Amino acid sequence: MYYSNLKNFMATNGYEIDGIWYPRVTSIVSIKAKPALYKFYADQANFAAADAIKNKSAEEGTLIHETVEAILKGETPEIPDTIKPVVSAFLDFRKQNEVVPHQIETRVVSKKHHYAGTLDCLAELNGQLGVLDIKTSQAIYRDFGIQTSAYIEALRETPSMPPLKRWILRLDQARYCIKGCGAKMREKGGNIKIRADRGKLNKDCPHVWGDLLGEVELRELPDFEKDLRAFLAAKGLWEWEHDYWLGQIKNGF
Ligand SMILES: [Zn+2]
Repeated sequence: MYYSNLKNFMATNGYEIDGIWYPRVTSIVSIKAKPALYKFYADQANFAAADAIKNKSAEEGTLIHETVEAILKGETPEIPDTIKPVVSAFLDFRKQNEVVPHQIETRVVSKKHHYAGTLDCLAELNGQLGVLDIKTSQAIYRDFGIQTSAYIEALRETPSMPPLKRWILRLDQARYCIKGCGAKMREKGGNIKIRADRGKLNKDCPHVWGDLLGEVELRELPDFEKDLRAFLAAKGLWEWEHDYWLGQIKNGF
């Protein structure tokens, strides 16, 4: 990543809070290699095409995030047709689970470790308080544990904060082959991906795709301490990588 100047580096990688600059959690976490992402890039026509798909897919993810967070805030947002299935699956999830949001899109700061981040939702879920992180990926990846442990650690610096759970709420939508072969088709950023929902993909099936269906997966993450150690290690590496810029920031580095 190239930065034209210090201001550009600071704006891209952090937040200024009360006159102090903090690196942001998502920037720190990005130091970790993502082999699946390289494979995705390699599978596309060229780098620019892969970037376009990735950016469009991120936009779709943001739209789902914003819509669901508005609903959690008690608003009644307009729901674009493209994401109706996933939003309707989320509304079903809310009927089946008691979700009481306390904070949505809230900035959290760790003064102890010097970083900041924005969490999706601090909520009571079926009577337990925790961080609910919304993802629009096709699976729940271990990396999500690193990011969410950083939010929990920052929240724990608030005196009287009770023990917190960590959940990933994965929201997605896909179509299934109505021939019964078990294939699943997912369209993200205009890119179509067909995979076996379980077992091996039947290459002989002339797939016929059913309606777009929303998916909701809730998972509680274990191993907070292990994930936090990984986050702090990532932070150390991130600081080493950006030593040149960090050395020019006169507040705590
Ligand atoms: Zn099929």
